[in-house]
Amino acid sequence: MFRIGHGYDVHKLVEGRKLILGGVDIPHTVGLLGHSDADVLAHAIMDAMLGALALGDIGHLFPDTDDSFKGADSLKLMEKVVEVCRHKGYCIGNVDATVIAQAPKLAPHIISMRENIARVCKCDISQISVKATTEEHLGFTGEKLGISAHAVALMQKI
Ligand code: ZN
Repeated sequence: MFRIGHGYDVHKLVEGRKLILGGVDIPHTVGLLGHSDADVLAHAIMDAMLGALALGDIGHLFPDTDDSFKGADSLKLMEKVVEVCRHKGYCIGNVDATVIAQAPKLAPHIISMRENIARVCKCDISQISVKATTEEHLGFTGEKLGISAHAVALMQKI
């Protein structure tokens, strides 16, 4: 009836890149580096959904050797992941995710992230939880070298 999955992702912060989290373009001095738009939150959530169904990860589904995914909107990729899960007979029960970033302050953007993710997942915003925390200036997120995200997804048989 139910299957649970976990996802984890990290991207490096660099100058000259946009900071996209949960499809929200967040004004900041640095952004995340990656083959796609480097939306670390979207990536962790997709890996959680795929993990729940033991379908591998997004690197397997959307290889970074494929130029068609260069600069890709990760929410478009998420739409495809949701489709793949639906084909396997599963829809989203709920998702809970945590973004770990020292800066900028993410609280003002959380609702927009949840709305974006719920829209592409074709579910209610109450099924999508996004939280943000810092690691108290410790480690690579604390030193603002990168941003990481964890997610769990409960998938439900249709
Ligand atoms: Zn990623």
